[in-house]
Amino acid sequence: TVRVRFCPSPTGNPHVGLVRTALFNWAFARHHGGTLVFRIEDTDAARDSEESYEQLLDSMRWLGFDWDEGPEVGGPHAPYRQSQRMDVYRDVAAKLVDGGYAYPCYCTTEELDARREAARAAGKPSGYDGACRDLTAEQKQAYEAEGRSHIIRFRMPDEATTFTDLVRGEITVQAENVTDYGIVRANGAPLYTLVNPVDDALMEITHVLRGEDLLSSTPRQIALYKALIELGVAKEIPAFGHLPYVMGEGNKKLSKRDPQASLNLYRERGFLPEGLLNYLSLLGWSFSADQDVFTIDQMIAKFDLADVNSNPARFDLKKAEAINADHIRMLDVQAFAAACEPWLKAPHAPWAPEDFDPAAWAAIAPHAQSRVKVLSEITDNVDFLFLPEPVFDEASWTKAMKEGSDALLRTARAKLEAADWSSPESLKEAVLAAGEEHGLKLGKAQAPVRVAVTGRTVGLPLFESLEILGKDRALARVDAALA
Ligand code: GLU
Repeated sequence: TVRVRFCPSPTGNPHVGLVRTALFNWAFARHHGGTLVFRIEDTDAARDSEESYEQLLDSMRWLGFDWDEGPEVGGPHAPYRQSQRMDVYRDVAAKLVDGGYAYPCYCTTEELDARREAARAAGKPSGYDGACRDLTAEQKQAYEAEGRSHIIRFRMPDEATTFTDLVRGEITVQAENVTDYGIVRANGAPLYTLVNPVDDALMEITHVLRGEDLLSSTPRQIALYKALIELGVAKEIPAFGHLPYVMGEGNKKLSKRDPQASLNLYRERGFLPEGLLNYLSLLGWSFSADQDVFTIDQMIAKFDLADVNSNPARFDLKKAEAINADHIRMLDVQAFAAACEPWLKAPHAPWAPEDFDPAAWAAIAPHAQSRVKVLSEITDNVDFLFLPEPVFDEASWTKAMKEGSDALLRTARAKLEAADWSSPESLKEAVLAAGEEHGLKLGKAQAPVRVAVTGRTVGLPLFESLEILGKDRALARVDAALA
């Protein structure tokens, strides 16, 4: 049976790389009818925060993920917050030292730095040189007597590590490139290098799917796993698969700190969770050669690690928005209207709450649905209905009000006055006829009308908009524009 894990550290806002990792693990678990373990790696008190933890949970829920074991749901391996599992790590670290798999290292940072520099200068590998590997009891005592503190270091085997990555195939790492590494700090705090594989072992994880940035820790974790198996703590080494890097603007690796990487940005822009997940699934995976819009259920049904690509994926906001637009169109109109609600209120909406007219919104929503790529765009598109006056921007005004527009607008006003306001068709006829009198096609003729009534040069279908706004308000705006 498949047991995968999603194990972020609650440091700062969730970012898209983390969501992509969560998504692939979730889809993999669901595809195989397996178990998704959600674990919080909060052993770094200096960087982790309760606020980030809450945000993480909120984000996962917003995205629509569920997990079988973890915070809020519990499970047989609880607790799932590493900060509550310190006893476990202390115990395993002691076993590793007792078994000779790890040892106290008394080297100071200055000593390590100096020796690393010297090795570099001599063109030699610059990893840990093994100085404390085989200290005698007397040497240890002498260091203690000097008042030195020690970390715990894991003893790497002297041979190369080979493993088959589920995404990139066979990988071999030479021993000199992975030297003995710290697993417990001098103050007794266990490090990621220990707690992550220990929990994977105890939680019986079968597949580790994570970002390529963690590829270099895999040989270390495999060695640690072997020790844990010998100690009876672990049963089996999991399979590892490393998901490709995500490149941002300028073909640079998208970093956590990149504003473009922040999940909140997409949430605030009004991405639908399904649209965003659809797009993120394409960062390193493909659904099929000719289809890139699909539902989450379709993704789960088709998700196969064999289709994960090892090449870096490029984050493309335009494509993300285009895919999201398709998901918006896939909603039924009530769901669309409901999803827009946050953007029809403060702080997004500029109109007074009492000026919002639910009937006008219900009437305009079907026309807006196919025109917004992200939900936040709805506010500007419908503000003409709820603001006492349209928001004019000078540039749109001059652009639409070319020479002769005044005259056209006067003609259009007269014809609109006489039109049937319960029929967009009749309103269109009116503007069409006004255009004809001035030698203008419909597109050119409707531009000044649109600016006068909505304040903008582009927007929702004009004649439906006029009908919904109503004759009196619409004509008053034309008059104001002409005054
Ligand atoms: N807590 C680690 C991180 O957020 C997890 C890495 C892993 O998946 O092994 O980077």
